[in-house]
Amino acid sequence: MISGKNYIGNKLSSEGDITFKTFNPLTNTENEIIFTEASDQEIEETVELANEAFKKFKKISGKKKSDFLNTIAEEILALDDLLLQIYTQESGLNIDRAISERGRMIWQLRMFADLVKEGSWVEATIDTEISDRKPIPKPDLRKILFPLGPVVVFGASNFPLAYSTAGGDTSAALAAGCPVIVKSHPMHAGTGEMVSSAIIKAAEKTGMPNGVFSNLNSSGIKVGQVLVKHPNVKAVGFTGSVGGGRVLFDLANQRVEPIPVFAEMGSVNPVILMPKAAKQRGEEWANTYAGSITLGSGQFCTNPGLIIGIKDDVLEGFIQTLAEEIVKVEPSCMLHPDIIGNFERNKSEVSSQKGVFIKADYTNDVPKNHGRQVIITVEGDTFLKNTTLHQEVFGPFSMVVQCEDKSQLLEVINNLEGQLTGTILAEKDELNQNKDIFEALQNRVGRIIYNGVPTGVEVCPSMQHGGPYPASTDSRFTAVGIHSIKRWVRPISFQNWPDELLPDELKNGNPLKISRLINNKIESE
Ligand code: NAP
Repeated sequence: MISGKNYIGNKLSSEGDITFKTFNPLTNTENEIIFTEASDQEIEETVELANEAFKKFKKISGKKKSDFLNTIAEEILALDDLLLQIYTQESGLNIDRAISERGRMIWQLRMFADLVKEGSWVEATIDTEISDRKPIPKPDLRKILFPLGPVVVFGASNFPLAYSTAGGDTSAALAAGCPVIVKSHPMHAGTGEMVSSAIIKAAEKTGMPNGVFSNLNSSGIKVGQVLVKHPNVKAVGFTGSVGGGRVLFDLANQRVEPIPVFAEMGSVNPVILMPKAAKQRGEEWANTYAGSITLGSGQFCTNPGLIIGIKDDVLEGFIQTLAEEIVKVEPSCMLHPDIIGNFERNKSEVSSQKGVFIKADYTNDVPKNHGRQVIITVEGDTFLKNTTLHQEVFGPFSMVVQCEDKSQLLEVINNLEGQLTGTILAEKDELNQNKDIFEALQNRVGRIIYNGVPTGVEVCPSMQHGGPYPASTDSRFTAVGIHSIKRWVRPISFQNWPDELLPDELKNGNPLKISRLINNKIESE
């Protein structure tokens, strides 16, 4: 069922010389299938095909795109247990996680299908002419959102389904009217090929142009870099490390025609534990956070890697309980030996810094590729002076910063890099009395949480998944929810354009019956 080849539109191709295999971290062995990396010629052919497909795809109606997205969902479900099996073999993640991630992917596809079927997302805005306006007449102006062109998607290692081949970036880009070229993640190339086969089938069944979707294999950074530099690629979606995201962002900006790179990268997701909350509910929060830090072996971009409080006996008690509870959690398998290698390296680099105390360290023997959790503490002063302590340790790891007082706590928050999320654990009156803390945190994050955990990203319109750099390269956009479609479009205005030549969304008669802003009033039919 899996060929190991690239999908150049609906054609399977393996012209290149470089081959690789995926790895099963549970059995600590290579999987059998041999994948062939896309050659330069295949990359060229893929981009040209996507560019040709764009000429047709950009004109396809919302209803047809909706059919396409819903059919992708059906075809993925039809892959059934085989997809789940490959997913677990290539990621070490368990079957329950596979089912829930597939559910999330299907939900996202259907959510975008509904959005484009209804059609108002294009933000049609009309200002009719005023021919007798003095001193000069006002022209007729009409604006909508228009797809950018072929988009390259780099899937995430930690979400082989929901943020990879047919994940959030791909479904949003296809919904917008942009052909997608996926640079398949080498850790789960088989899962990627299976999902690609479903997308290709759906494209054929619903009459989409060949090239609307392609999937290219790679075992290293070259394929991705060639794609990002290609003049006919018009935008990039990326989920992964700050290093990788930054290289691609810089490459895209060095092009003759720079293009946007929407990279969702590192975050330590600071949690502020206020003194009264620590006193009244410290034990409960310690229990909850032991679960959140180790969830999915800490391999979430929203993992709480930093807890900040004011040093006293109560905070000490919280640390003690957190340390006791976290070592009770059975370590789980991480995604790949490279990921666990990075985890071990980063964990020991941070833990060996001056002024760091290890409070919990799971030392029992574990099966190969399992991530052992660690909790460390540092004084506020130490944290402020050493930026190595600010970096993300991707895995089951968290650091508690013990500040001298509230003003140091504020200084720590103000010195944090941009973050996806920030959390405040506080009693209600405490929150009201410390608005400066809330306001400082608000400056650094994309989502601010009260009395909860940052792990768990709801897919809904009000979700913001993105934050100031380096959480993401453009904090004005989200990678999750319907508004993520805005990454793949640009506004275009039509001035004094004949009605019959306007897109349907802007025609006088509103044939699509969408909601529009006409002369500053929202009107829908
Ligand atoms: P990654 O190393 O950033 O790779 C992500 C994707 O980008 C891969 O397909 C990779 O291709 C490509 N890539 C990376 N660097 C590149 C470069 N310089 N030029 C062109 N392409 C490049 O991330 P990962 O493999 O998903 O995981 C590795 C580390 O990323 C983890 O240990 C973790 O620290 C971090 N991570 C963070 C998050 C988060 O949400 N914050 C999520 C996942 C991973 P190749 O693999 O083919 O080289």
